Amino acid sequence: MDMLKLENKQLSLDKQFSLTGLMSMASRGIPEELLRNEVLIKELEEIAKDSALLHGVLMRTKESPNSSEVVSYAPFTLFPTPVPTVLFHQALEIATHFNRLIDRVSQSPRFLEEALASTIKVDSFTAKLFNIYRQVQQEPRDTPIVLGLNRSDYMIDHADGKEALKQIEINTIAASFGGLSSRTPYVHRHILKVADRLEESKLILDNSPAAGLAKGLALAWELYGSQRAVVMVLVEDVQRNIYDHRYVENELWARNIRVIRRQFEDVSRSGSLDQNKRLFVDGQEIAVVYFRNGYMPQNYKSEQSWEARLMMERSCAVKCPDISTHLVGTKKVQQELARPGVLESFFPDEPETVTRIRATFAGLYTLDMGEEGDQNVAMAMAKPDLYVLKPQREGGGNNIYGDEICRVLESLKNSTERTAYILMDKIQPRPTYNYLCRKGDPVTLKMCLSELGVFGAYVRRGTEVLMNECVGHLLRTKYAEHADGGVAAGVAVLDNPLLI
Ligand code: ADP
Ligand code: MG
Ligand code: MG
Repeated sequence: MDMLKLENKQLSLDKQFSLTGLMSMASRGIPEELLRNEVLIKELEEIAKDSALLHGVLMRTKESPNSSEVVSYAPFTLFPTPVPTVLFHQALEIATHFNRLIDRVSQSPRFLEEALASTIKVDSFTAKLFNIYRQVQQEPRDTPIVLGLNRSDYMIDHADGKEALKQIEINTIAASFGGLSSRTPYVHRHILKVADRLEESKLILDNSPAAGLAKGLALAWELYGSQRAVVMVLVEDVQRNIYDHRYVENELWARNIRVIRRQFEDVSRSGSLDQNKRLFVDGQEIAVVYFRNGYMPQNYKSEQSWEARLMMERSCAVKCPDISTHLVGTKKVQQELARPGVLESFFPDEPETVTRIRATFAGLYTLDMGEEGDQNVAMAMAKPDLYVLKPQREGGGNNIYGDEICRVLESLKNSTERTAYILMDKIQPRPTYNYLCRKGDPVTLKMCLSELGVFGAYVRRGTEVLMNECVGHLLRTKYAEHADGGVAAGVAVLDNPLLI
């Protein structure tokens, strides 16, 4: 039933865009005759997959997610996607401001308490994170070393004819694909050359988030100040995306910084704090804990995982992110930051910074109990297609769209349960046509939507900011028929911007 609805929707969308979409694509990037040349596409597909393998755009398979005996290419688009130059640069230029914003919000207990007060009453995952936050807040701390590695994601809205960069969210924990996106430019350059598009191939930008993320990790390690101590990457039990991590890890090894990979269970089993709160796991002192896990409820398999998280937070190891920075990445905080006057309170002397940040905000609406929340519920139910309903979850596939918004809000509208969600304007990006290369999936020309991510890295010791940089980008593209879902969820694939 739902499938059928989806297909019908796709058909009507296709009809609507078949001409305009391809025409605009033709004038903005990859020409239509190339996209329609089936013989060439077949050839390019094979070359592209080999190129991805040769250049290390790799992922373990669904069938054997914890073995490197048989691996495949990570999913990617056959062609890069046109992105307006001005908007691309706007996204890069704002990254250091978002770094500062996240860092400042993370140091404001009052704001975090107030922003999350209603959420933690009904969302047990956020409440558990918040509990840890409260506990560590009460403990005396030395001068902290803070390391933030984040990714701010955007779509280009063209709802009212003008194109504008609009933020989807900021990921302050386990922001992924900085490794693989350092390799994808080689694949698209090669494909464009084979397709006789040399000029476009020259437009594919270099990108090296892995190096920038590692630079932050290395600086935090150095500030920690013990040659013997290691960087611990906290990982999931299912490790399909291990190569993405390895690129960052190997940058650290190249600097002679030792790296170990451990799971919550390992920390529970063999982790401890000494009297100076130094963290030891398997007998090794940990300088930096780099969380590539711990962002979803199911990552915490038992109470022991939560205890391990608390132990790591209490330690003097640098946490990337620390618990307060993790909380800054919640959708609820994003919504509260969009309230009038809030950005001003974090940048009291920088009206221009406030303007630049706010320009990227879409409409964000509270569903807290009270008149404002009631109005927002009514607004969403009247025109659900204009909004996205978001719970406090990460990893893709959690949001609610269209008629489902009405169903959910109808059942929750008089209950505090609704405060587990926030409401957001739905961004309407301009679709483009492309082929997605995914293992086991025949390539077909379909309408796609793209999301641009920008990696930020910063390091602070006490009040001293020692690094604040934009370290690269990530373009992800999915078939337009999917409302939601990331690369890890098998929906979106890796892409590169073709600046136009
Ligand atoms: P997650 O933390 O799970 O990645 P996101 O907020 O990024 O949550 O939402 C997941 C996906 O849903 C995004 O990658 C995007 O495709 C889609 N999405 C989220 N918010 C919006 C929005 N406001 N407008 C349009 N699509 C959205
Ligand atoms: Mg996220
Ligand atoms: Mg996201």
